[in-house]
Amino acid sequence: MSDNYQKPNEEHSQRQFRDRPPKRIDVSVVVPLYNEEQSLMPLSLGIRDALDRMNVTYEVIFVDDGSTDNSIKVLREIHRKNRRYKFISFRRNYGKSAALSVGFQHAVGRIIVTMDGDLQDDPNEIPRLIDKLEAGYDLVNGWKKKRHDPISKTIPSKLFNYTTSVMIGIKLRDFNSGLKAYRREVVQDIKVYGEMHRFLPVFAHWAGYKVAEIPVVHHPRKYGKTKFGANRFWHGLLDLLTVIFTTRYSKRPLHFFGIIGLLSFLLGLAIDLELTVEWFLGKTAISNRPLFTAGVLLIIVGVQFVSIGLLGEMITRTNKVEEYVIKEKVFN
Ligand code: UDP
Ligand code: MG
Repeated sequence: MSDNYQKPNEEHSQRQFRDRPPKRIDVSVVVPLYNEEQSLMPLSLGIRDALDRMNVTYEVIFVDDGSTDNSIKVLREIHRKNRRYKFISFRRNYGKSAALSVGFQHAVGRIIVTMDGDLQDDPNEIPRLIDKLEAGYDLVNGWKKKRHDPISKTIPSKLFNYTTSVMIGIKLRDFNSGLKAYRREVVQDIKVYGEMHRFLPVFAHWAGYKVAEIPVVHHPRKYGKTKFGANRFWHGLLDLLTVIFTTRYSKRPLHFFGIIGLLSFLLGLAIDLELTVEWFLGKTAISNRPLFTAGVLLIIVGVQFVSIGLLGEMITRTNKVEEYVIKEKVFN
């Protein structure tokens, strides 16, 4: 009997302990890393120097994305010296997006700063990013104005940034920069996967957050090597298509597919009607006009696109997840 009374109490106190809000922290620095053993120690010292000058409380969360070198040993060492430095280590390599997502989930700071773990981003820029954020923005992007990377990387990157800017309608020069500062609420619900981290400013913009960009210093890679090859450009372009579709059209897929479908259908119809009229007037037989096949093809493709759009609409309707970002709620 007494046991029965004891139990709920115990549970209650345990729950209270678990639900206790974490200690208030101003800034969480999230660092995704994959095989960066030589950079981690100097980086952690750099972050400390930059943030100590700011008079804020902070934590640094390293997310080891399945490194196969000694990164985890270095992280243990850094944590042993200073408990502010925490780390999470994946069992295998999941990619930078996964590392950032998990970092965001664990970060408790009011402001979240991300930076690469390879010493290419400069910790001394953190105060400037935060100042800009405090001036009234929700996301501040670090633009690597003078970039220290090979030309094989900088030119495709320029093209990518330009295309994304035009397609999405947000003026940024460096979407994929590792150095960014966010207000907590911006990232707390965003889950990025694959290589979608390139589009974090796009997701924020589409959710209605204010995004700004400031130029930042960038350094050449000192240790280790880059993890992204030449295929990054093509991955980026394909991902851009996904992003445009999922941000703009996920709730109205027929508008996306329907326009393409209708245009194709009408063009095909016009071509074939014209050929029919010509045949009617006795000019030529339809069978020896190659254009006829093109017309038929356009009609069929058009019908297909409209049908895909309608299927999309049905899926959207069954999928009842609400994804609206609420700014404030007064509800009592
Ligand atoms: N990174 C990661 N997981 C990966 C690839 C990269 O966490 O699968 C990290 C990497 O260690 C670095 C950051 O992401 O901290 C940016 O990578 P990298 O420096 O190779 O990219 P680049 O500067 O060449 O664009
Ligand atoms: Mg780098």
